[in-house]
Formats: sequence, C-alpha cells, structure tokens
Amino acid sequence: MCGIVGFTGECQAAPILLDGLSKLEYRGYDSAGIAVKRSDSDRVEVVKVKGRLQELVNKTNGGQAVEGHCGIGHTRWATHGEPSVTNAHPHSADDDNVVGVHNGIIENYVELRTKLSKKGYSFYSQTDTEILIKLVDYYYKKYQIGPIDAIAKTMVRVRGSYALAVMFKDYPGEIYVARKDSPMIIGTNAEGTFVASDVPAILSYTRQVYYIGNLEMARLNRDGATFFDLNGDEVKKPLVEIKWDAEAAEKGGYEHFMMKEIHEQPKAVRDTIASVLNEAGELDLTSVGLSDEEIRDISQITIVACGSAYHAGIAAQYVIEDLAQIPVRVELGSEFRYRKPLLDPKGLVVVITQSGETADTLAALREAKELGVKTLAIVNVVGSSIAREADSVFYTLAGPEIAVATTKGYSTQLIACYLLAMQFAKVRGCIQESYYQELVSEIQTLPEKIDRIIEDKERIQWFASKFAHAHDIFFVGRGVDYAICMEGSLKVKEVSYVHSEAYAAGELKHGTISLIEDGTLVIGVLTQSALYEKSLSNLKEVQSRGAYLMGLTTYGHYEIEDTVDFNVYVPKTDEHFSASLAVIPLQLLGYYIAVARGLDVDKPRNLAKSVTVE
Ligand code: GLU
Repeated sequence: MCGIVGFTGECQAAPILLDGLSKLEYRGYDSAGIAVKRSDSDRVEVVKVKGRLQELVNKTNGGQAVEGHCGIGHTRWATHGEPSVTNAHPHSADDDNVVGVHNGIIENYVELRTKLSKKGYSFYSQTDTEILIKLVDYYYKKYQIGPIDAIAKTMVRVRGSYALAVMFKDYPGEIYVARKDSPMIIGTNAEGTFVASDVPAILSYTRQVYYIGNLEMARLNRDGATFFDLNGDEVKKPLVEIKWDAEAAEKGGYEHFMMKEIHEQPKAVRDTIASVLNEAGELDLTSVGLSDEEIRDISQITIVACGSAYHAGIAAQYVIEDLAQIPVRVELGSEFRYRKPLLDPKGLVVVITQSGETADTLAALREAKELGVKTLAIVNVVGSSIAREADSVFYTLAGPEIAVATTKGYSTQLIACYLLAMQFAKVRGCIQESYYQELVSEIQTLPEKIDRIIEDKERIQWFASKFAHAHDIFFVGRGVDYAICMEGSLKVKEVSYVHSEAYAAGELKHGTISLIEDGTLVIGVLTQSALYEKSLSNLKEVQSRGAYLMGLTTYGHYEIEDTVDFNVYVPKTDEHFSASLAVIPLQLLGYYIAVARGLDVDKPRNLAKSVTVE
C-alpha cells in the first residue's frame, strides 16, 4: 500500500515527487506529503495535506513553491492512525535530524514507543511510522554512527514490513532507503537518482532500475546508488532495463484507467499466450522452468492467492482438475500462512499475484518454500519480490495495471492457468493429442472474442444505468460459472459500493434466498452446458420470489429469454475457457454502475492496488 517517491539530483525535486506520486496514487490516497531539503539553508521543508494528491499539488503550486534538489514524498493508505495532516507522512524526529516516509506496518511499535519515551522522546502522531523514524534518530545519535548503521540497527530492532526512505540533516543531497517485504525500486539517469514503490512513478524519467533486495539498504546521491546488506557491507547490483513504455501507464484518451485496461485485455491475453508459443505454434513452457518430468511427478496443486487472483485460482481449480486430473486446492494467502498447511513434498504450490508484492501471498510462498515444496508464481510485475523468490515464474504480460480494480491482470492470470492446465494434461497423458491441438487453437481465438464483447459495451451501460441504485445484487452459477460469479461480484462491489454476493447456484436455498425481494437483481451465469438446466431452475426459483433476472450465457441459448428479463450473450468457446469471456460483461457492469453513481472508479474508497500489508 501507499506510494513512496524520492529524488536527488540536478533538477528541482518537488515537481518530480508530485508527478511520481500521481502515478502511484492507486496505492493509497487518504493523505499525501513531501519533504524537500532547501538548497539555500539546512532546512527541510515539509508540506502535508489530508485527502487527494491534488490538494498537495495546489498547496505547493505544482511543486514550484518548494525549492530544493533532494526530497521524498508519500501518498498514504492509513494503517495506524486516521487519515489526517498530522498522521500524513513525511514524519520527522523532533529536531528534524531525520525525516522519512514509510510503506508498511511496524508490528512492535507499542513496545518501541515505550522504549523511546523512556529515552525522552515524545510523539505527535498516532502512526507507527513516527516511531520508526525516531528509532533511526535514536540509534544515529546514541552510537554516533552513520546513517547506514543507524538504519541497520533499526531494522534489526523492528518487526513488520517496510519500505523506508529517509533524509538526514547531516547528509544533505542524500536519501537513505531500506526495505523488508514492501516494494521499492531505485532508478537512475543523467540528472539524478530516484526511488519509488513502483515502476510507473519513474518511467517517464528513466528505464534503468535497480531492484533492492529484502533486508537491504541503499544510499542515493546525484551520481547513483550504493547498496548495503544488514552488516553494512556493500552489495553490487545489476542495472536492469524496464521494458514497459511510459505511455502504457497513462490513460491514453480514456476517462478512467479501468476502462482503458478493460480494452487492453485482448492484447494482454494475446501477449501472454504468445510468450509461451514457439515458432511452430506449439506450447513451450521452458521459460516457466517446469520440466516434463517435474510435471509428471506432481501429486497435487495448492493455489494460493488473494482477491481477484484467488478467483482466478478458483476457476483454475475446475480447469486443471478436469483437464489434467490433478487434485487442486485453492487457498487465501491470509489463511494459508497461519494454518500450518499439510503439503505433500511432491506437490506444487502455485501463487498468483498481479503485483508480486501481495504480503499474504508472499508469506505463503515463503512458508511453502520452507516446507520444501516446489513453488511456481504467476506474476505480472517483473522483478517483484514474489517473482524473485519463487522457484519458477510464469509472467503474465498485462503491462502496468493502474486501476485499483483488476481487469487485464485477472484475465491474464486465467490464461496462464489454462496454459498450465493444458500442458499438464498433455504431459501426463490425460487428453488426446487432437483435443490438445484444439485447445491450443481455441485459446488463441480468445482475444478476438473478448474484443467482440467489449464492442457491445453500450448495452451493458444501458443496463447499468437502470440498476445504478440497486441495494443488492446476487450472482449465481455452478462450476466455472460460480468462479466467474465471484469475480463479477467483487468487480461490482469494489468500484460501485453496491452490496453484492456470489453464490453457488445450488446453495441459494440454504439461506440466501430469504434475501430475495421484489425487484432484487439476480445475475445468473450459465456458460457450462452440463449445468445449464440446473442453474436455470435456480433462476426460476428466485424469479418466483420476485427477483429481476439477468442471464449471461453463450450465443445459441436464445430460449433463456423466456425466463430472464435481460440477457447478455458471449461467443462460444471451449467451456474450460468460459471465464475469460463471461467476466468481461461483468467488469463492464461494475464500471458503468460506478460511473452512473458518480464514483471515482480508479480509486475506490478504502482500497489500494497492491496489498503489501497483512
Ligand atoms: N503504517 C503507516 C501509516 O499508517 C504507513 C501506511 C502506508 O503504507 O501507507 O501511516
């Protein structure tokens, strides 16, 4: 959560900080602040606001009002202390000896605050971050050691997660950074050195970045960065070139990133498929790093993920079990990590995450590795913590995803799962070669089919405006359709704030049906032919209790119109791939309901894009 940006170099820092933060606002947006070391004195000027970054832009006149070449900035997603100017970052030690910004949570902050109080420190905010900054200040003064050693001592003493960027009064022009379990990258160009929570923040300035490792620190000055381990020993890092172009992280004429990213799905899906197709048009998963022998040997698969990635995992469960005949269990990262999971040593743990930084998923990955089980990550962000720590990685090629509600990230995760399922099925001899070939050609038709669904978006827009003020929406389906419902329901509620629930269609009469009243919108997803009639009966049951029905099925099932009040058709495909098509109208529905309600689609309240705290 939260976004951090820092710059030191030849240019004015504040405009760069504000620009970088604007690209990170999807990570947190309840307050914002910058600290810039003035060039004409030894003062560090701190400006903070409650609310959106635009307030800070206005207050500083686009950064012009804050002079200086070295600074740090922050956009906050509060964990400790309400959103307020006082709790906004940067936080400072009393004499401004140390000023810093932080992403993450310091778990033992109460104990540390007591310790520091005894040493004469007092506290002005409710944040854990203020304590972290004052602890750095304490060690720096007590031991008369330099910044790196003071930060290292702090890192040994604190528990939790952090990406930290601090400036010391005694070291003008330098920024010191450290990280544990929270994302951070460092960039460099001829004008200076940058630090940021994520690539888009600095993409318009440089593509040359360093990935700072877990429990590492760095010193940044105008000439570049020097890295250190916890012992204070220097660590050498390669400079890596980022391939994403800056435009991919801009809105490009769309009103919202979410709509732009919905439209980018055909390309994202096409690119992800192409990344594992060889010149002969055959699937080749060598880049993922799983040998045929390993695939044959896998006894079970445990998929671990959070949010929409978890829903991709649920869809994958049906597809992998059906095609490759391997038992699959899907778990939420936050549950898996504290459950003492019983994993078969011959099993495979697949973690799915767009950002590659999701805290619970990262913890689950580490847990699995500790238990000696092979791990595979399906990740979008190259160089992210999970991508670096998993045994093998299947990169989804969605490009930067900025809207908080995922669309193309989820779609490419589905594709990665299908491709794995197909390959596992083939290698393990579970499907005929001819069917495998059919699947390989069919999956390549998905981008064009997704395009066709998006082209018809006005119909969904019309329907969304009709139900923009619904109180509740229920999504029902069976099998893969249930997985689609889970994602559709999340999409609607997260951006439109309309309460919605996804139910396995057969479960309705075990409780939920009591919530159906006259006019309650129930959306039935019916893409699985073997389950079609059963789900239709469930729709009829709720219709008899007054529900207004929307159906979502494939072209050809026109008789559904005898039952439902409104229907959306998607093109036919192999039914294992249905989620990729049926989810699109539901993404559009969530988007249009939110727009009709006048909400900020890209930055829904209380949410942040990558959940880097537990
Ligand atoms: N825990 C810190 C706070 O509440 C940082 C939160 C963040 O990552 O934005 O201020």
